[in-house]
Amino acid sequence: MNVYLDNNATTRVAPEVLEAMLPYFKDEYGNPSSMHSVGGRVKKEIEAARAKVAELIGADPQEIVFTSCGTESDNTAIRGALEASSGKKHIITSRVEHPAVLSTVRYLEKRGYSLTELPVDRQGMIDMSEYEAAFREDTGLVSIMWANNETGVIFPIHEMAEIARGKGVVFHTDAVQAAGKLKIDMKDTPADLLSISGHKLHAPKGIGVLYVRRGTPMTPFMLGGHQESGRRAGTENVPYIVGLGRAAELAIAGMAEENTRIKSLRDKLEKALLEKCPDAMLNGHPEHRLPNTTNISFEFVEGEAILLMLNREGIAASSGSACTSGSLEPSHVMRAMGVPFTAAHGSIRFSLSRYNEEPEMDYVAEKLPPIIKRLRELSPFVKK
Ligand code: PLP
Repeated sequence: MNVYLDNNATTRVAPEVLEAMLPYFKDEYGNPSSMHSVGGRVKKEIEAARAKVAELIGADPQEIVFTSCGTESDNTAIRGALEASSGKKHIITSRVEHPAVLSTVRYLEKRGYSLTELPVDRQGMIDMSEYEAAFREDTGLVSIMWANNETGVIFPIHEMAEIARGKGVVFHTDAVQAAGKLKIDMKDTPADLLSISGHKLHAPKGIGVLYVRRGTPMTPFMLGGHQESGRRAGTENVPYIVGLGRAAELAIAGMAEENTRIKSLRDKLEKALLEKCPDAMLNGHPEHRLPNTTNISFEFVEGEAILLMLNREGIAASSGSACTSGSLEPSHVMRAMGVPFTAAHGSIRFSLSRYNEEPEMDYVAEKLPPIIKRLRELSPFVKK
């Protein structure tokens, strides 16, 4: 059996999405900026996709800017908002952000900005009084993710954005893992900028969105033509934009029902693994997290070894550690949460999608415990 449980890394393109895209590779190849009807037809479809994406997050279509990926959206939001913010040089973020945010703010720190990286507790949550205390006179931007890619932990974005707004500070949220999985309504979420990536919600890789609230000062990242109302130059990636529009439509139609089903599958898998494997623990807040994600540490074993053995059984998951310069370093998220060394190394993320089925959970719950047992027999950390 092949079981794909790495949907926070990327998702399968929905067949309906592929179907919607195909005409834009074949017959509808016009440039949406052209004056003729070949281009005009395509322009209409871009605007229809923009309206769908806007609906997914309760935004106005004019607030949707298509980009090439979540990383571009994060970079544009952070650098574009700071450049437009009349010299304010302080940034607030968290220690558990995706590298698309962390690398950008750390790059800026080396170029004269000052940076506050908020810590998280053992469950991956931010202390709200610490957050409030981090604001300064010269704070120009807050960038806090909506949901964490490794643990699924959800931050109280509504409350955090409200605090930033009260202080007149632009608030960006990386909602790459939240969009399509959680209900987002920008009409009552006071965030100014929000990033989305198509390939996390069954659209292809290489298409993203930056939501820019009307009136938010923003310097474009890409300069060139007048596409996207001058906010992102470059001829539009028409088939992918159309695909993302269709993916948004599918997410809107299915989210409530799918989330209930996916969560119950996730809970079943999680319960079985925690019960069957001794010295296993859940990483991240048990309630405040995405319905599709579970991150479990299996103490005294290496995540990479678990992944390789799961792979042999046809199971695709992901590990919370990354091999850096020859040494196995636990991920920055596990370190920020203070997960003990012996557990951080053996953390595995299982992330589900609408395409997972119950027998797959049973299969993983059957295959994984003996793998852990075997690896522990070989582990130098376990007393025998
Ligand atoms: N932000 C988060 C939270 C992510 O999980 C990812 C992808 O893993 C990204 C940003 C980057 O998105 P993309 O792969 O579209 O550049």
